[in-house]
Amino acid sequence: MPMKLTLESIEDLINTIIGEDVIPLIKILYNKDNISEFKLAEMLNVTVNQIRNMLYRLYEQNLVVYMRKKDKKKGWYIYYWSLNQKGIGNSILKTKLKQLDDFKIRIAREQDSQFFVCPNACMRFPIETAMEYEFRCQECGSLMKELDNKKTIENIKNMITTLENEIVILRTIPVKVKKERVPKEKTKKVVKKIVKEKVIKEKKVAKEKKAPKEKPKTVTKKVTKKVSKVKKKKI
Ligand SMILES: [Zn+2]
Repeated sequence: MPMKLTLESIEDLINTIIGEDVIPLIKILYNKDNISEFKLAEMLNVTVNQIRNMLYRLYEQNLVVYMRKKDKKKGWYIYYWSLNQKGIGNSILKTKLKQLDDFKIRIAREQDSQFFVCPNACMRFPIETAMEYEFRCQECGSLMKELDNKKTIENIKNMITTLENEIVILRTIPVKVKKERVPKEKTKKVVKKIVKEKVIKEKKVAKEKKAPKEKPKTVTKKVTKKVSKVKKKKI
């Protein structure tokens, strides 16, 4: 059955390949899709530029996706971000496959060689080196004993089994279908906020500018029109 990646496994990956500072952002995006940069900055109490920096670092590694929507009033795009479950799954998978390779090399080495250790735990040698030293510890001179590495081999075997199971699960992570549009409510909220700010700004500018020749009525009309448009949208 396909399953969602755990927050813990995502955090492990982020810590390793991106950096600890991005974890709070990951926690927010883990619980909710399509959040704008502005909203994220507000939620984390950092600047929009700081948020963008984090998002681009994640984006470079294919760990987040965005959807942009043009703000009709301002003419610029607002970006809405989500975690890229598929990309994250692939990254974790890659890391696990590498670990699996390493363990396989290690277990082969353990199985193929014989090791000798000092009873005082000073050193450990492969048999060839131990023979060179006539099985004497080079630190304390004790006679070295053959190391029983059955336990070590057993441990590595267990780790390999765990990794192989995790890899099977990771391969079932479904592709995240890209949504076509932002949910209505969110867009409205953002647009409403921006329009509201613009109206306030315009009012302020109009007040300051108040040149004698200017017709204040025009400005008022424009503002009223915008406000009514917002009201209409709200309905
Ligand atoms: Zn020793």
